[in-house]
Amino acid sequence: MALALASTTTVAQARSEVDPVRVRAQLDFLAGPDLHGRGSATPDEAVAAAYVASQLQGYGLKTAPGMTGYLQRIPVLRQAQAGPVELLIDGVPAPDATPLRVVGGVWGGKVAILGRIAPDTKAAVLVVPDVGAKNADIAKARTQVGAAVTIVIADKDTVRATEASGGRPALPRYFPNETPTGRTSTVAVGPDTMRRLLAGAPTVTLSVPFTLAHDSTTNAVAYLPGSDPAAGVLLLTAHLDHLGIGADGTIWPGANDEASGTVALMEIARSMAMGKRPRRGILFVAYGSEERGGFGARWFGDHPPVPLKDIAANIEFEMIGASVPKLAADRLMMTGYERSDLGPELRAHGALIDADPYPEQHYFQRSDNYALALRGVVAHTVSGYGEVATYHTPQDTPDRIDAPYMVRAIESLLKPIRWLADSRFTPRWNKDGQPKE
Ligand SMILES: [Zn+2]
Repeated sequence: MALALASTTTVAQARSEVDPVRVRAQLDFLAGPDLHGRGSATPDEAVAAAYVASQLQGYGLKTAPGMTGYLQRIPVLRQAQAGPVELLIDGVPAPDATPLRVVGGVWGGKVAILGRIAPDTKAAVLVVPDVGAKNADIAKARTQVGAAVTIVIADKDTVRATEASGGRPALPRYFPNETPTGRTSTVAVGPDTMRRLLAGAPTVTLSVPFTLAHDSTTNAVAYLPGSDPAAGVLLLTAHLDHLGIGADGTIWPGANDEASGTVALMEIARSMAMGKRPRRGILFVAYGSEERGGFGARWFGDHPPVPLKDIAANIEFEMIGASVPKLAADRLMMTGYERSDLGPELRAHGALIDADPYPEQHYFQRSDNYALALRGVVAHTVSGYGEVATYHTPQDTPDRIDAPYMVRAIESLLKPIRWLADSRFTPRWNKDGQPKE
């Protein structure tokens, strides 16, 4: 009996099914203390990418067409803050100013106040006195007056945004062939400073000392060749980076966001590599720098190893560590479900996916799939719940993941993806479904 049991165990381990122990081990490594939260375009992110690449290689996957290795290294320029950000009103510092998003340099001049702007007003600074002002109205006014700096009143959203960024204002990052033109700064202030801004016509100066850092971000890319070269290629993706280390040294582990999707990608790759060769080739890509600018996906979209027109579909995996409250317990959601015929077909072939019940969150536009969708590829994200309490907090750890849900979620995707890889069905955008920016 003991012998039979031992051989059964061996067979189970060799199967292509998802193993909860391996899933936890991968989560523990990617979101563990030694990778320091895999900050976008950091050496920690490069280690995570090397790990994912090595796993994919170990499953027997090949390098992608035209590539000689499993990594794409991508140069990214970053403005690094080189001193305290200062907001001066008529030359006097505003002590209650919190920079949220800033551009390096010295900016400022006259102010315009939202709600009191004449049609021909030009001003370097837009002041938004109302807590409830709509983002769209702010953006429109900013463009109209040509403001380089927007000053809003501090509220719970700006406090949360500051916490979520680890207390550091975001400075621009861009590809070497770009410039940060068109980007503007936003600063939150307390009621005292807001009163000073609204009284008289002050002159405001925002000074952001900076240096230019040359970083690189890394994509892990592997390929499972298909049996029919004319059948096109599937692109399966996740992002491997997270927020890294905060200004105060706190680590943001990013277990759900996005070690979970990266592990799903690896498990699906492993399963597909063990089965019979699919009809379509499959590109497996773990992107770098989703969290800060979507650099990995945008670069991949501009330098794809196969022509974009040959990519039949892109499915991104995101945040599968918590079930979706508005859906049945075992379901995943697909962002932009109504935009193409991919979701309904996958569902008809057993995928436990529903339409995204939170359209107001614009998840379709907030994930790596969007960079590919803008380039014409039918591209969606499959995810669990996006508004978990641990989202973008230091509490996003492996032990807080709903492991049974995550394992079931990955398992539920194996057959539908296998079907898609073998099928002659080519997904299409529905009318007006493809985004135009
Ligand atoms: Zn995130």
